[in-house]
Amino acid sequence: MALEEYKRKRNFNKTPEPEGKVAPKREERFFGVQKHLASHLHYDFRLEHNGVLLSWAVPKGPALDPTVKRLAMKVEDHPFDYGEFEGVIPEGYGAGIVMLWDRGTWTPEVDDVDAALKKGDLKFTLNGYKLKGSWVLVRTGGRYAGARGGGDRSWLLIKHRDDWAGDVDITEFAPLSVKSGGGFEDILAADTPAVWESHRPAKGGDAGAMLASIIERAAKLKASRAAHTEDTTRSARTEATKGTADTKAAKGPKNTKGTKKKTAGKTTSSKKKETQSPRRTQSK
Ligand code: MN
Repeated sequence: MALEEYKRKRNFNKTPEPEGKVAPKREERFFGVQKHLASHLHYDFRLEHNGVLLSWAVPKGPALDPTVKRLAMKVEDHPFDYGEFEGVIPEGYGAGIVMLWDRGTWTPEVDDVDAALKKGDLKFTLNGYKLKGSWVLVRTGGRYAGARGGGDRSWLLIKHRDDWAGDVDITEFAPLSVKSGGGFEDILAADTPAVWESHRPAKGGDAGAMLASIIERAAKLKASRAAHTEDTTRSARTEATKGTADTKAAKGPKNTKGTKKKTAGKTTSSKKKETQSPRRTQSK
């Protein structure tokens, strides 16, 4: 095993030499980005470390262009379980809609993540659906001292130059969820009406207007979905009445399955398009 010979040759009660610990393996850990429509639209960038999620709020979202530095405000660590959350926060802190915009794994490009964080320079590799390759988070050292919360929390998220860099605006190109495949309105529509009708977050300004219009769109989407389900049920019933009682039983579920399959296929293909790597698109 590693360091066994090093240890066998030394008595650590007598030598000032370090006992020697194997440096933690640079293992892949969870990373995720949650697009969060709250009082302001922003992207919560999260890296798993020591069992929690280190978190930065990135107002404009990540950029694949290495010349673009995106402000990233360090916020409190979040529980690991929060990483894949997608849904509605009806009220209170962060009230709004959370979409899982990207997820995957990250690998530090340094041996000591804590030291890198303390230094304010963390280099890492991402392997997500949308974000890949080498990146860095650099603390600005008060350059944005006027920003909310003070300069100490101000970092910059920057893409390193590699195969995964490019000038595609990834937030525009791939705006949807990697979890559900939809947008904010789909996330709203997927929830029970009680959440998005009776606990409508009260917000002012542009984000409030945006949220209100999304809630409206979600209501329409939900209504059209309900109408579609009714149509499908009706046509299935009509077809079933054409056959005998036996074929009714056989046909009914078969038809439903076919419809479901079709829908699932559509969802998958649009999802594929959404999560397609920008590099592949650029080379086209
Ligand atoms: Mn947030």
